[in-house]
Amino acid sequence: MSLIRVNYDDSTLVVRGKYIHDSLAVSECFASEGVRDKELSWHYLVTRSSESMINHPAVRQLENWGLEADPEELKRLQSVLHRKRKNYDLDMMPLSELKKTKRFADALQKVESKFGGVFADGTELFDFQKECAAFIMAKRRLLNAMEMGLGKTRTSIVGVAADDANKRILIITMSRNLNDWIRELINMGFGEDYIILSNPSDLHSTKRFHLVSYEKWANDAGRVVYRNKEHTECPHCRVSFGGVFKRRLRYCTVCKKQAEPLDERWSDKDMPKECPSCKSDWKSGQHICNNVIEQRIGRIEKRVCGYSIIESKKPALYQFYHNGYDACLVDEAHV
Ligand SMILES: [Zn+2]
Ligand SMILES: [Zn+2]
Repeated sequence: MSLIRVNYDDSTLVVRGKYIHDSLAVSECFASEGVRDKELSWHYLVTRSSESMINHPAVRQLENWGLEADPEELKRLQSVLHRKRKNYDLDMMPLSELKKTKRFADALQKVESKFGGVFADGTELFDFQKECAAFIMAKRRLLNAMEMGLGKTRTSIVGVAADDANKRILIITMSRNLNDWIRELINMGFGEDYIILSNPSDLHSTKRFHLVSYEKWANDAGRVVYRNKEHTECPHCRVSFGGVFKRRLRYCTVCKKQAEPLDERWSDKDMPKECPSCKSDWKSGQHICNNVIEQRIGRIEKRVCGYSIIESKKPALYQFYHNGYDACLVDEAHV
């Protein structure tokens, strides 16, 4: 009988043998001894028990069945579990209690020493802002719900920047708030140390602050490449397309000239008024013309126009997320 492997994924421990008959023995053991799946989940291990891994019911039942869990893997799991429990305890600790810890005192001292001075715009942090930033640094996971105008942006930046361990910081915000973040970063002396993410390779920039809008981060439509506009009439004699002006060829049969292609692209704010192909009204917000056209080629045929103002769609940036980020600020901005 070989050692039983105890691995894990994001949500649960994964217990199985190296060979299929070992794995079957594990399933049989758990089923007959009543080891429930949920007892193997991280959620249960972290929040509902304080047992060490070697005393875990699953491991003990394996022993009863003459199956031995790999002691090296148990050791490794124990340290992962220890870290998760510590994080959980910190998450659960009320701020009033956290404030009495050395952890908080250290964070406040870091905030003071790094950001206690005067910023470029002549302002300084207020005490309540320093305290909030220290809470952010000490607790690591926190909702900063300050009233408008009290300096959410500023305190959040200080909270993550005061910690030297945060070498790469992701900031996700509404596109309309992007400039507020940039202004504050420049004001705090990080003008050379931020990048606005727009391409996947930007996520690997060594700049400390990585700013991105929700649209670019999470929404494929944020990374749409629009198609070039097209002439709808001959730029020389102004005859409209369809008849004597050939749209695709950009050729006017009256002038006998070809028009230069247009350099402008459509955009979400600049959609066509009418379909560049079938001339039907362009419905606002649509990217593809759904107008049904009747064509007489021998008999009447119906087809959908299908003209698209989109050249290509690129996957949203979150799909390129990697583990190189040490901290993340999410600017919800909803009331
Ligand atoms: Zn012409
Ligand atoms: Zn059309």
